[in-house]
Amino acid sequence: MKIDTLAIHAGSDPADASAGPVIPPLQLSTTFRRDEEGNFSSGYMYTRHGNPTRTALEKCLAALEGGEDAACFSSGSAAAMAVFQALEPGDHVIVPEDMYMGIQNMIREVMTRWQLEFSFVNFDRIRDYLKPRTRLIWIETPSNPLMKVTDIRAVTALAAEKGITTVCDNTFATPVFQRPLELGADLVMHSSTKYMGGHSDVLGGAIICRQRGDFFDRIRQVQTLGGGVLSPFDCYLTLRGIKTLACRMRVHDANAMQLAGWLAAHPQVEKVFHPGLPHHPGHETARSQMSGYGGMLSFLVRGGRAEAMKLINNCRLFTHATSLGGVESLIEHRASQEGPGSLSPENLLRVSTGIENIDDLIEDLERGFHN
Ligand SMILES: *Cc1c(COP(=O)(O)O)cnc(C)c1O
Repeated sequence: MKIDTLAIHAGSDPADASAGPVIPPLQLSTTFRRDEEGNFSSGYMYTRHGNPTRTALEKCLAALEGGEDAACFSSGSAAAMAVFQALEPGDHVIVPEDMYMGIQNMIREVMTRWQLEFSFVNFDRIRDYLKPRTRLIWIETPSNPLMKVTDIRAVTALAAEKGITTVCDNTFATPVFQRPLELGADLVMHSSTKYMGGHSDVLGGAIICRQRGDFFDRIRQVQTLGGGVLSPFDCYLTLRGIKTLACRMRVHDANAMQLAGWLAAHPQVEKVFHPGLPHHPGHETARSQMSGYGGMLSFLVRGGRAEAMKLINNCRLFTHATSLGGVESLIEHRASQEGPGSLSPENLLRVSTGIENIDDLIEDLERGFHN
């Protein structure tokens, strides 16, 4: 089935629904009755270990990414942490230097205390950083906030040759536009807080595996024994959001592409970072592994930080807020959001293009530049 169809039907078992509800019910019970023999013949015992609404979401996410199984967590960060906690002390991990700031902070402030060694690298020279104990390579593409593109096929082929596990943070692209498991990745990570949920009202995260195996079993253990699970209500909201994922993504993509072109031609803009623009250094790679570019872009305002802040404050439709992937457009000054240690230029603004009418979005920015 095509992704538009999967987004609507995956996770709801047609056999179960033959004479019942069309939508998988929200199952709030934390505990499940045993049968007369004392067994859990419903398949469920206690909601931390498993819950029918969570199973529906996990099946749906596995189907969307073309994987065998998925584990849902209370946030994208909890999902990422489960991957690191599935490693052994002394393992070495390669992560990109342009990486989601929250996960960088988790690595620096929490995970390095657990005897894991991390190298933040430029993936053009990834071979130089491989060590005998390199166990995991973390890919994020397109990256946050510079929209750098990593060649998933090339990195996962190198990793497979060395027996290294690969994870791809697919939050920006979503499986509508990029399917890392088909390109060779072992695992996909999502912050479902973003496009999956799609309405800026539910946190969540997931790890999806191409094939079950020892490493995914450990991630599952961290999920059920550690307890950072997604609540049934949040699973329900996320499933609800996913039904429109494919059609939302097409509008995000078309709007962002048009906005990127308009900004690139604007005299008050120094540079635009969007993988769909032909001058973007990752454009050819993006074209070879993505079927659309998604709703994210960033740009440099001519004149520096003050001019960038002025533009943000002049906007009426674009909301000045962090996060991304909701139906509404957001604009953000990343350097001040990321704080000390941020590599984002002071005149860089990041945009999460929503699904409003593009003419209204352009008009809002035009007014912002002129006020
Ligand atoms: C938001 C985000 C995360 C973290 O997810 P949370 O749900 O906020 O914990 C990780 N990676 C990317 C690319 C993100 O945008």
